[in-house]
Amino acid sequence: MLQLMRAGRTPPGKDFVGRASILGNLKTMAIEFIDLKAQLRSIRAPVNERIQKVLDHGQFILGPEVSEMERRLEAYTGANHCVSVGSGTDALLIALMALGVGPGDEVITTPFTFVATAEMIVLLGATPVFVDVEPDTCNIDAELIEAAITPRTKAIMPVSLYGQTADMDEINTVAAKHGLAVIEDAAQSFGAEYRSRKSCNVSAIGCTSFFPSKPLGCYGDGGAIFVSDSKLAETMRELRVHGQESRYYHTRIGVGGRMDTLQCAVILAKLDTFDWEVDERIRIGRIYRDMVAEIPGIQAPIVRNDRTCVWAQFTIQTDRREEIVQSLKEVGVPTAVHYPIPLHEQPAYKSAVRLAGTLRVSEKVSRRVLSLPMHPYLDEMTMQSIVHALGKAAQR
Ligand SMILES: *Cc1c(COP(=O)(O)O)cnc(C)c1O
Repeated sequence: MLQLMRAGRTPPGKDFVGRASILGNLKTMAIEFIDLKAQLRSIRAPVNERIQKVLDHGQFILGPEVSEMERRLEAYTGANHCVSVGSGTDALLIALMALGVGPGDEVITTPFTFVATAEMIVLLGATPVFVDVEPDTCNIDAELIEAAITPRTKAIMPVSLYGQTADMDEINTVAAKHGLAVIEDAAQSFGAEYRSRKSCNVSAIGCTSFFPSKPLGCYGDGGAIFVSDSKLAETMRELRVHGQESRYYHTRIGVGGRMDTLQCAVILAKLDTFDWEVDERIRIGRIYRDMVAEIPGIQAPIVRNDRTCVWAQFTIQTDRREEIVQSLKEVGVPTAVHYPIPLHEQPAYKSAVRLAGTLRVSEKVSRRVLSLPMHPYLDEMTMQSIVHALGKAAQR
């Protein structure tokens, strides 16, 4: 039966190695929150090969794998330009710098995100302006954005939280009306689609992260900016190397923000199975969601009809989070909270931000969200064990 269940989901051309450890009873479950080891088992040979090649040619900084990866990712997303950078955080920083965002400027974004989104705005001396989120997707509420625009607004930065984009067409329309740039923080959504377009290519600029646990992760830090405008792309390429226009000739204040050749080699090795992984994420997410939706007191995550979600996080909502976390922990099911404190309530940010209206939804969901184990190598039996444990925990 296990063979049958796995038959349709073996990575193309790879032998799937079974995982006996999770087939025992609930008390002995050893479930990974994100199982990078299972992934490595199916891609070890190409990863080793790619890494060896870099060690042999020795061009560790901006070597041939860097542009090879950038061209592959341009083809994948459909964006005109991919500029690889040191991390997702660098991607946001360099994108904002390329737009000239600085002191006195405002950038409209969401308070319900990883800190880097607002951090880079503040670091440049600008002010994050927080707009509340939707209660179901937890993404920025596009309808509230226009009222937050002032003469100081420079850009809108929606975050594609948990792996699903916000209402990008509505956001792009408001931005175009007011002459603003839209930067998608796509750190969690690489591979997702919005109206048949790939995340990272659904607005003027898209920024992603290759942090190991993201949908497309390397084995260290990495990130990329996707941009349609050639001039902006050129500016970003210079900004990532100390604002250098040519060797030791600096026309801008930049940063050291390149992605290593070795990390690009890892991404190249992973790209051959990435389409399969995205399909699996979507398939697993659908089954998981249907199972979770049956449990009283648990709000299952939702995906809008015109987009797909790559489930960087599979995040449910509940009013009984603390008890459920504890019960799941007792039976070996790891969980995480993305995110427990909205950014306007963080000590370092309270006085550095402006609130556009109340942020009651962000405050409410931050108390209710709970992420369950999710990755493309999650088998149905493990999913059933997790959901069973969740059902028992929710009833207690
Ligand atoms: C992970 C993440 C980042 C930062 O990416 P790093 O590669 O870790 O710097 C930024 N924004 C969001 C929404 C993220 O999830």
